[in-house]
Amino acid sequence: MKTFPIGGIHPSDNKQWSRDKAIEVLDLPDLVTIPLAQHIGAPAAAKVAKGDKVLTGQLIGESSGFMSANIHSPISGTVTAVDMAVNGQGLRQMMVTIKREGDEWVDTIDRSETLRRECTLSSKEIIAKIKEAGVVGMGGATFPTHVKLSIPDGCKADILIINGVECEPYLTSDYRTMLERGEQMLVGVEILMKAVGVDRAVVGVENNKPDAIAHLRELVAKGGYKGVEIMPLKVRYPQGGEKQLIAAVTGRQVPPPPALPIHVGAVVCNASTTVAVYEAVQKNKPLIERVVTITGKQIKDTHNFLTRMGTPVETLIERAGGLPEGDVKVLNGGPMMGRAMVNLASPVTKGCSGLTVISGDEATRGEASACIKCAKCVAACPMGLEPYLISKISRKKLWDAAEQHNVTDCIECGCCSFSCPANIPLLDYIRLGKQTVMGIIRARAAKK
Ligand code: SF4
Ligand code: SF4
Repeated sequence: MKTFPIGGIHPSDNKQWSRDKAIEVLDLPDLVTIPLAQHIGAPAAAKVAKGDKVLTGQLIGESSGFMSANIHSPISGTVTAVDMAVNGQGLRQMMVTIKREGDEWVDTIDRSETLRRECTLSSKEIIAKIKEAGVVGMGGATFPTHVKLSIPDGCKADILIINGVECEPYLTSDYRTMLERGEQMLVGVEILMKAVGVDRAVVGVENNKPDAIAHLRELVAKGGYKGVEIMPLKVRYPQGGEKQLIAAVTGRQVPPPPALPIHVGAVVCNASTTVAVYEAVQKNKPLIERVVTITGKQIKDTHNFLTRMGTPVETLIERAGGLPEGDVKVLNGGPMMGRAMVNLASPVTKGCSGLTVISGDEATRGEASACIKCAKCVAACPMGLEPYLISKISRKKLWDAAEQHNVTDCIECGCCSFSCPANIPLLDYIRLGKQTVMGIIRARAAKK
């Protein structure tokens, strides 16, 4: 069975807490706060003002550049504020607050459950509809999908890869989506194949989801989806990383930045994002809701909720039985790449695939000691870096050296910290080094 060639680890997958929980529609929130930046790139520009009435699915924030994305209202009601508000990480950003009145949708959106398979649109028209709907990568990366599908001059795609790996421990939103919305996903695959002009697509799914693999294979056979292969992959973290998935499926290595997957002929799209593509193109439905896993060993009632964007995180936690007693940490995402949340009144956004609640004991790191030069971090790094070294030079603020040692190649997977017997917070220093060096590179480019 295929996997990526270097590094990687095997953390406990802990998916048993929520994997059997069917997707459940969460009650409509009474109030939502919608960040105008829910994607990589420039924030959207507000199209509404305090006092405006909006419909569900109405454009409220317009893409403000090539690398940006539209934002739509997830509910109907009245805009009560367009102002700075605090996000989950404690940072202030521009958000639109809407008080709900009923649930009145924009009438061009097809809300029926009927599967619409035929798509007569051209590649350009498909990409335009995806852009209009504000679709971004829902696996956490939030890269605008229309940008990913706009193949640069001189490049050509020959394979579409659908990322159904979900290697992050605990999370099960993509898994449930593949099981329960597999047909919509496969129509989305056909649409994406047409958009990027390929006749081959591979859906990569780790082998710890055998029911999803069998279900999708059955749908492919039954529906006659030509050129679509469901490929089981060996379980290994971080296989859901774009470069690792491309290597696992095709054996091709994406060169260091600024090279992109398209430079090796691949376009990668997450499984839930592919369903959003289906809805955007076939149903005129913008990205206003998503499946969010709420999970953790001590969570009383784990769920996979279909949640409107902008719903407060604390609403999902309350519906799951509340936070357990004692010290806990709430992560936006899973335990490997998730970010600690400091504000639970903050909203669910397009990139939030799950909320993982871990106990204080689980979150506590062992005391760091001196490096024993065991090289376990090097063996674990899927990008072929030397984490002990780039961590040390980042800690010493030797930015030139950090750049020379390719700190910007780090995908922040945390395999190095996970493997270190000396409990050195390698990723913390590496992330600092990466952010600083990227800032230096951007400033250098701006001067040219
Ligand atoms: S966090 Fe970065 S340095 Fe550490 S293992 Fe992952 S890619 Fe390598
Ligand atoms: S894993 Fe930890 S102890 Fe071993 S070489 Fe890397 S930093 Fe040093």
